[in-house]
Amino acid sequence: MELNDPVTVLSGVGEKKSVTLNKLGINTVNDLLTYFPWRYDDLSVKDPQTTESGQKVTIRGVVATEPTVNFFGRKKSRLRFLLKVDGQTYPVTFFNQPWLKKQLELNHEVSVYGTFDAARQQINGMKLIKQELGSSFDSIYPATKEVKQNTIKKLVKTAFDEYESVIPEVLPESLIQKYRLESFHDMIKNVHFPKSPKDADKAFRTAKFMEFFFFSMRIQQLKKMHRQENDASVVQYDDQLLTKFSQKLPFSLTDSQQKVTDEILKDLNSPYPMNRLLQGDVGSGKTVVAAISMFATVTSGKQAVIMAPTEILAEQHAENLANMFSDFDVNIALLTGATSAQARRAMLPNIENGEINIIVGTHALFQDSVHYHDLGLAVIDEQHRFGVNQRQAMREKGEGTNVLAMTATPIPRTLAITMYGDMDVSIINQMPNGRKPVKTTWISATKTKSALAFLKKQLLAGKQAYVVTPLIEESEAVDMKNAVAIYERFQAIFEPEFKVGLLHGRMTNDEKNTAMTDFASNKFSVLVATTVIEVGVDVKNANVMLIFDADHFGLSQLHQLRGRVGRSSEQAYCVLIADPKTENGRKRMEIVAESSDGFYLSQKDLELRGQGDITGKQQSGVPDFKVADPVEDLNILNVANQEAQRITSESDWKRKPENVQLAKYLKMNQHIFTD
Ligand code: ADP
Ligand code: MG
Repeated sequence: MELNDPVTVLSGVGEKKSVTLNKLGINTVNDLLTYFPWRYDDLSVKDPQTTESGQKVTIRGVVATEPTVNFFGRKKSRLRFLLKVDGQTYPVTFFNQPWLKKQLELNHEVSVYGTFDAARQQINGMKLIKQELGSSFDSIYPATKEVKQNTIKKLVKTAFDEYESVIPEVLPESLIQKYRLESFHDMIKNVHFPKSPKDADKAFRTAKFMEFFFFSMRIQQLKKMHRQENDASVVQYDDQLLTKFSQKLPFSLTDSQQKVTDEILKDLNSPYPMNRLLQGDVGSGKTVVAAISMFATVTSGKQAVIMAPTEILAEQHAENLANMFSDFDVNIALLTGATSAQARRAMLPNIENGEINIIVGTHALFQDSVHYHDLGLAVIDEQHRFGVNQRQAMREKGEGTNVLAMTATPIPRTLAITMYGDMDVSIINQMPNGRKPVKTTWISATKTKSALAFLKKQLLAGKQAYVVTPLIEESEAVDMKNAVAIYERFQAIFEPEFKVGLLHGRMTNDEKNTAMTDFASNKFSVLVATTVIEVGVDVKNANVMLIFDADHFGLSQLHQLRGRVGRSSEQAYCVLIADPKTENGRKRMEIVAESSDGFYLSQKDLELRGQGDITGKQQSGVPDFKVADPVEDLNILNVANQEAQRITSESDWKRKPENVQLAKYLKMNQHIFTD
């Protein structure tokens, strides 16, 4: 019996339930025990007389009237009774929980948890608690339709009761002492079953430390692995061919591109595997740097891959590279999830025997069934879309494989040191000549007409435009425009004069590719699209972008999106259409309109990231942590990182008695960092 047991060992978890749990990232008992509540409801009984209006409170009293239930509307109901507390009666209402009537008995004691309305001296009930609980906090977990709140609660309790005695101490005792942390056991106990908010806070402090510390340990371990000398990683490229290739490019490299290319070539030529992060704002021209690096690798007789997060982007890279390499002896293949079984079967042997020397693709590139002849270089485009372990999996496809990770969403230096602590960094800090920043304006939805008029002017001048919408089809997010509706609206306005196309995530891959290539070849003028276009795609003639509900995107994401236009020397425009409801939201719109500096925006993105702003967070280039927040908890992050560095700096750290459990736990839980 150990924490790494699969959840199926718990009673009540069969195959079916385990699948739904897996979707929440819960595979093992350990995952379940570290699946933390996102808030607590205070169920300790309070005096209504000292409760402020609008507060959530638990009051306890005697049921003073027979409960009544009224049904209205479709499936709606109202249950009412009076609750007598210290001689005073309070009306209680429960909406849509008619079954509670059966649990209420006249003259019996109950507790009601809900929102207190002081003016009317009444309570809007949310939970009914029959037994006396004393002081208690109810842990509320992130739940889904498939895995309900109560299920998680019950499973956590079962798991804790059964495994409590085998929860090891994973942190070295010296760290626990030094930072006054809780033991792993106490942390788990107090996070799930706190006696007071203070208990929970303390436990969360430990949980955050542990999360950062484990992450840093993983990074440090990877760094060590990568720094090992390995002759297999030497790429002896052909200088003459490389010069010839550069001369055939339709432009000359910027100084910045040249500088990072030199850094990369130097790395490739050394017996230490490269592990380099290439940062450069959208449009700064990272692809050509990758292409030169890949070509260099191929001239040495080795293979190179470029991995992109979406199929559209992979397709585009494949096409782009095929053009660039057309005069050279290079065999390119495209391998994605959409590649047909037949094409795969034909391709795989040629990847294995080295016949194909450049492979462009998605996650499919590191599947078990794919074997490389001699993988010299793996380029990972839009690297923030991949996790630490995916990067590692790609690297492990070869012997001493060099890795070039590219990203346009830079993160602040303080964070980068930890987050990408295992990598060397190159920065492109210059745009190609003649590039003008995208002129960005923010307007209210009521002004949409003027934006359409502007759009039409650009179309008449022969330009193309993107129209971006946040969600497709009917979604719960009530009044968001959806791509299909906007597509139809734009067709009605602009066709037949200007053709309108549609691109969204639920289209098949063939449909997506057709839409994208048709747009690229100017078969239609307007492309209505969801965020599937946010990364990488490159259509030079498109110079206008309209973004509906722009406030639903994060700053970095808006910057990425707008980076789809302004990819030539022509002036480009971006119109943000939004009516943000908060001050923060308005500020964000102003900032994107004013600044075209990706570094600055990513910093602001982290600072202004509101709660529930998931899209922004995902785009900010910072890995998602479960409980810790790399910005808010930066101090903890720095300390945890220092400690991880100190511990791993000793080559025999795993054998030290105080680190044995830690090493074991890390080994068991590498999967935590897969995305
Ligand atoms: P990103 O860094 O966002 O991936 P890309 O590599 O897609 O940017 O490059 C953006 C556009 O700039 C492409 O159309 C590319 O051909 C062009 N480009 C790249 N480098 C230069 C350069 N030195 N001079 C002119 N255009 C360039
Ligand atoms: Mg790119």
